[in-house]
Amino acid sequence: MERKRVLITGAAGFLGSHLCDRFIKEDYHVIAMDNLITGDLQNIAHLFALENFEFSHHDVSKFVFVPGKLDYILHFASPASPIDYLKIPIQTLKVGSLGTHNLLGLAKNKNARMIIASTSEVYGDPNVNPQPEEYWGNVNPVGPRGVYDEAKRFQEAMTMAYHTFHGLETRIVRIFNTYGPRMRLNDGRVLPAFIGQALRGEDLTIFGDGSQTRSFCYVDDLVEGIYRLLLSDYAQPVNIGNPDEITISQFAEEIIKLTGTTQKVIYKELPVDDPKQRQPDITKARALLNWEPKVDRAEGLKITYEYFKSLPPEALVNNEHKDFTTYNR
Ligand code: UDP
Repeated sequence: MERKRVLITGAAGFLGSHLCDRFIKEDYHVIAMDNLITGDLQNIAHLFALENFEFSHHDVSKFVFVPGKLDYILHFASPASPIDYLKIPIQTLKVGSLGTHNLLGLAKNKNARMIIASTSEVYGDPNVNPQPEEYWGNVNPVGPRGVYDEAKRFQEAMTMAYHTFHGLETRIVRIFNTYGPRMRLNDGRVLPAFIGQALRGEDLTIFGDGSQTRSFCYVDDLVEGIYRLLLSDYAQPVNIGNPDEITISQFAEEIIKLTGTTQKVIYKELPVDDPKQRQPDITKARALLNWEPKVDRAEGLKITYEYFKSLPPEALVNNEHKDFTTYNR
């Protein structure tokens, strides 16, 4: 039987590469697309030898051409850490807006079903906790996170318009904080930041007083949720994340215990508009997809720590591994 064909954008990134693995495992033909601004080919290098895998080096903010039929499109291209979108704000806006428009057009031409990677950031700094899908959010459009949050909100609106106006089959996943192997060590996110600091023998930097909360989902659980949502018939947004909420101070303690570091925590200024609390309400995912996370934090953190420890020493150096400025057009 002919294989189903799936286009995955942001395929060389953290989530994109795990999705490539999953669709290869399900015996799809995977077309992996990435412009490699924040992605890393190392994440998908193990797939290049396969006959049902191909890579396209392309920026989806520009017209996207893919020969042949397409059954599914997974739009996962976007800078996704607060430091990234401070460094490349224009690209962040473009990939969520222009990139989404290009891919929706492609999906319409190919009669493909498309899922977009939305985010808990559409809820902004939420004054409802946990956040159900019905909550409209509390977003500052002109703050440092606005370029990401508003691009993602526009992305949802555009996707819904293609669904209602063109009858396109679409899915919207709102992804909460996710972690696991292949996260970038220097992307500024809290987990790679803490583990990198522990491995280098530096103090762990807590932003603010550490009372802000997050809820961390292990990547395999997230991928399972995305896979089920894609194959479901539900076009409204669905939260996928782990509701196990902790403060950043507690999280630092867990990393100290896990790594056995003798360093202490130090406090730095809280970034502007840093959400004070975040926890997904996953009632919908449970009911519609029969999905809930299976991997608890102790287990997931252990696997992730082993991954970071296995990296070559030069990967641990805390420097910028890409020059972002030339991309900011
Ligand atoms: N954070 C921290 N120390 C760091 C990096 C991040 O205390 O070295 C905090 C950050 O201020 C936020 C939380 O950890 O409150 C999660 O940050 P991250 O950038 O991972 O993702 P966010 O959920 O804010 O998008």
